[in-house]
Amino acid sequence: MTRSSPSARSSKQPRPAAHPPVQPERGASKERRAVFFDRDGTLNEEIGHVSDLEQFRVYPFAARAVRQVNEAGMLAIVVTNQSGVGRGLFAESLVKKTHRRLTSRIAAKGGRLDAIFYCPHHPEALVEQYRVACACRKPAPGLLEAAAKQFGIRLEKSFVVGDRYVDVQLAHRVGARSVLVLTGVGTNEWELRRAAGGEQPDHVAGNADEAVGWILRNL
Ligand SMILES: [Mg+2]
Ligand SMILES: [Zn+2]
Repeated sequence: MTRSSPSARSSKQPRPAAHPPVQPERGASKERRAVFFDRDGTLNEEIGHVSDLEQFRVYPFAARAVRQVNEAGMLAIVVTNQSGVGRGLFAESLVKKTHRRLTSRIAAKGGRLDAIFYCPHHPEALVEQYRVACACRKPAPGLLEAAAKQFGIRLEKSFVVGDRYVDVQLAHRVGARSVLVLTGVGTNEWELRRAAGGEQPDHVAGNADEAVGWILRNL
């Protein structure tokens, strides 16, 4: 697991908020709730592996989704598989740059990402340092566990929003609720897998903003 600081600093602390500090939820002094957002196809356009920052497009509804989570006093955290690093398609430094851009585009519209956690690994990675059957490649829960430890999050009271069934599985592995969004590859995933039985999302939403709307109505 690797955490890229949303700011340029490499401090372990979340960046000082441009937005007012998160107010703890009432009655939740220690253990907080989070909405974990997948990245590609959920907050930004899915374009395969993002190997060129110029192609990186944040969805217009992403900032509002994040802002609503901020305003509800929950943490807004991104969890993303970036095995393109291990596959040698792009450098880890590009992932960090991409995350600074995502963070700033969302901040420009009043949303605050509290952290971004990513997995650069793949069991068959070309780059040896990333070739590992890690505990953080979604649907393995390592990214959520790292976030929970760092921020004191109660995962079973939290949510995962994503456009793939790995995001649904990820949520259920830690007892969180899942929302599948129909952006990115979500529509395909839903059509292919809804009838196949097996694990299904707790809710299906048109996009991340609608997903947050459902979450806030179902706390
Ligand atoms: Mg995705
Ligand atoms: Zn990993």
